[in-house]
Amino acid sequence: MTLHVQPDQNADMAEVLDRQRSAFLKDGPPSFRDRKDRLARLRAAVLAHRAAIQEAISADFGHRSRHETDLMELFGVIQSIDYLARNLRRFMKPERRHVGLFYRAGRAYVDYQPKGVVGVMAPWNYPFSLTIIPLATAIAAGNRAMLKPSELTPRTSEVIRRMLEAVFAPEEVAVVLGGPEVGAAFSGLPFDHLLFTGSTAVGRKVMKAASDNLVPVTLELGGKSPVIVERGHVDDRTMGSIVFGKLSNAGQTCVAPDYALVHEDDLEAFVKLYDAAVARAYPDGPDSPDYTSIVNDRHYDRLKGLIEDARARGARVVEAGIRPETAAARPRTLAPTLVVGAGDEAAIMQEEIFGPLLPVRTYRTIDEAIGHVNARPRPLALYYFGGEGADRAKLLRLTTSGNAGINNTMIHVAQDDLPFGGIGPSGMGAYHGIEGFRAMSHAKGVFVQGRWNLPGLLRAPFGRLVDFALRVTLGPSGR
Ligand code: NAD
Repeated sequence: MTLHVQPDQNADMAEVLDRQRSAFLKDGPPSFRDRKDRLARLRAAVLAHRAAIQEAISADFGHRSRHETDLMELFGVIQSIDYLARNLRRFMKPERRHVGLFYRAGRAYVDYQPKGVVGVMAPWNYPFSLTIIPLATAIAAGNRAMLKPSELTPRTSEVIRRMLEAVFAPEEVAVVLGGPEVGAAFSGLPFDHLLFTGSTAVGRKVMKAASDNLVPVTLELGGKSPVIVERGHVDDRTMGSIVFGKLSNAGQTCVAPDYALVHEDDLEAFVKLYDAAVARAYPDGPDSPDYTSIVNDRHYDRLKGLIEDARARGARVVEAGIRPETAAARPRTLAPTLVVGAGDEAAIMQEEIFGPLLPVRTYRTIDEAIGHVNARPRPLALYYFGGEGADRAKLLRLTTSGNAGINNTMIHVAQDDLPFGGIGPSGMGAYHGIEGFRAMSHAKGVFVQGRWNLPGLLRAPFGRLVDFALRVTLGPSGR
């Protein structure tokens, strides 16, 4: 079922939620087989819509290559579904827990029950995978789900709607289409859990709205993720990896390296080798078929504004790879650009960039780099290129980020068995891995009384056994 909801039709969304919740209560938690079946249906639907997804995303962005969509979205979706299906039995299994001495002969375990109905809100930058991976997680954990994809990628949202409508009953999975007003109403629904992926600013509003109903939230937000390059480690390999992280999807990636901290001795080598690495990856510059467009005019103008602001404040602006004269027959292609030496007051050093611009700052000691990171909001990801020495260990120990990547960028997200989530302004909670399954499950602790009723002896009337138990645990009575 799909709802093209207008603000005055919010009652319809509430009704879908009611229907899903009633169906959930009537049927009870789905069995292992039912969950596997739902995951298999989802997997088949994704593969059947592969071409439609590639086309829709490319049309929504202005241009995105089918390879990039396959690698950055479908690959991850299929990998996640397979990971969940493979580990489902283990995740679902009740977990035995320790029983204290005086409660012995009893048994304690945790039952991971589905929460019920999960709401999923998604952004535009990876519009398919950031809707479908949370959905797969919700299904694996035994929930029903309502999805609210982004209005900025309408063709992709429409494919998602069609695809899911074909394989799920509306009581299982429903898609709601619409913009910020619909998002606001959606986040105010009394879900059993809400997973929001998007900006920190909207994340704040979503958490406020969810708090009215005490809905637990997972917030997957953004921020400025640093990449720190150890002295002497600016080489082709490092630069190839930074270019991959910064220019995939033209930098419109939550875990893209936002800015670089480079040792002052390596600055010029960094600029030169970045240029070479861009030219290798995108030989035709912004016209390369593998280079993605900026999603809309507003973001394009915003990014141009960041460059101009930094230039006006004295930063050095270097277009990397091919020169601008040859660039851009396609809409909204923005040349990969280094911005060297922008100060803290420059907008590019304050807001999340979300585009193919890389500010580069220098440091002299690892303590200075650590200080820089710790003086700012905790990032979603932190990347370090360098050896296994003390500097790396110190940086990892003394900084806190959602995740970290060593000698690579972004690949941590593709590790299905690792949790993925930010901390503080970059997010709350995590999914992927067992953490995702658990975020969408209720951990119900159960204690089962044994035949030998030791706890029963610790009640009134209090006698010698109670004295003994208290002496063992608390010491002499003190009287
Ligand atoms: P956004 O916050 O503008 O939108 C996300 C969703 O919220 C959309 O579905 C939108 O319709 C809805 N929305 C908009 N205004 C709303 C409101 N007032 N109330 C409720 N819902 C509202 O984010 P975006 O621009 O689509 O995505 C970019 C941001 O997402 C970046 O900050 C990026 O870092 C972040 N992001 C994070 C992750 C992650 O996994 N941590 C992944 C991708 C993107």
